[in-house]
Amino acid sequence: MSNKNFDPASEIQDILVFGEFGGVNPSITDSATYTFLHAKTMSETFEGKTEGCYLYSRHWNPSAKNLSNALAKMEGTEAAWVTGSGMAAITCTLLQLCNSGDHIIAAMTIYGGTFAFLKNYLPKFNIDVTFVDTTNEEKVKAAIKPNTKVIYTETLNNPLLQVADIKKLALIADKNNIKLVVDNTFTPMIISPKKLGAHIVVYSMTKFINGTNDCVAGAICASEEFINALISVNDGTAMLLGPVLDPLRASSILKNMHTLHIRMQQHSKNAMYLAENLEKEKVDVKYPGLKSHKDNGLMTKMMDKSMGYGGMIAINLVTQAKAQQFMELMQDEKVGYLAVSLGFYKTLFSCPGSSTSSEVPEELQKEMGMSEGMVRFSVGLDHDIERTFKRIMLCYKKVMK
Ligand SMILES: *Cc1c(COP(=O)(O)O)cnc(C)c1O
Repeated sequence: MSNKNFDPASEIQDILVFGEFGGVNPSITDSATYTFLHAKTMSETFEGKTEGCYLYSRHWNPSAKNLSNALAKMEGTEAAWVTGSGMAAITCTLLQLCNSGDHIIAAMTIYGGTFAFLKNYLPKFNIDVTFVDTTNEEKVKAAIKPNTKVIYTETLNNPLLQVADIKKLALIADKNNIKLVVDNTFTPMIISPKKLGAHIVVYSMTKFINGTNDCVAGAICASEEFINALISVNDGTAMLLGPVLDPLRASSILKNMHTLHIRMQQHSKNAMYLAENLEKEKVDVKYPGLKSHKDNGLMTKMMDKSMGYGGMIAINLVTQAKAQQFMELMQDEKVGYLAVSLGFYKTLFSCPGSSTSSEVPEELQKEMGMSEGMVRFSVGLDHDIERTFKRIMLCYKKVMK
């Protein structure tokens, strides 16, 4: 048995049906609907009784299926389903798991869109949410109610890069008959939440998995039973809300997955270089790969060490004015782009307090330990990271003098 989590070079071949014309990439199935030779097969397909038959592309499409198979292989889940955005993956998963009157325990440091959905949108359906620090297991245990159906967390949170102990959370979930849902957007191939006990893994593929910032997409990796329920023609949330991924996009994302491991390693290597050197210069930097980060030991236990600690770092500039000046200078110096999102070949930076986490109220931001001057970096694939470091320091010194 290999100790590597996933190797696209051998494992993608295992799960694809080769293109009809012998191409090394599978043919793109550019169809909304599919023919049946026999009327009986159509009715059996509607009842979910056939294997390998396609009915309609809101349900399954062969190109989406190829990408889903690759993702399931990567995560070690039985199945997966791809969506038109990360938010679609998250919202469909939660709406599938919860009925009116149910309760969710969610991490308080989560992606702003997810936070807004849980806090502002779910009350419409009488679904109650308690936000807790999921890195503290006692707080999670104390929040459990008889109607709790889901514990929701991100592997690495945004922007503080604290690490959730997936194994411990999974034990708590299992004991109480609760599903543990993990958003692993920041750490594909680095951490495999399913292998640590999570029940469902969700992704925004917009970020590292696709890696080219040319589309928005998401994925749900779970058991065959959950995915089938999600796309049931009678009552499946994904089938009925319909946030499908276009087959042309699905096939381009699959091609980008061929290099995911190499990209993750380079993002990690560059982020580690920056974090170590910034720390040497006495910059207040957060990176889980640093010994000074409180979750360094936990992350080291959970990760595939060949992949590194990921591409995200955060630097504290103390005030928002300084953070903004710093980011504008860095863009002028060609360090990267002042933009939200992550996982691109160029370094991207933003100030979460006023952008991606602006949905999180200010008092809660304080409680989470977020500073208004925090600048989050998604470190790029730079070949000359030494030069990038020098440029960052130049900007930092100008602002913090
Ligand atoms: C971007 C992001 C999302 C939302 O994904 P979209 O593809 O933008 O819908 C969810 N979770 C995390 C951690 C993200 O970074």
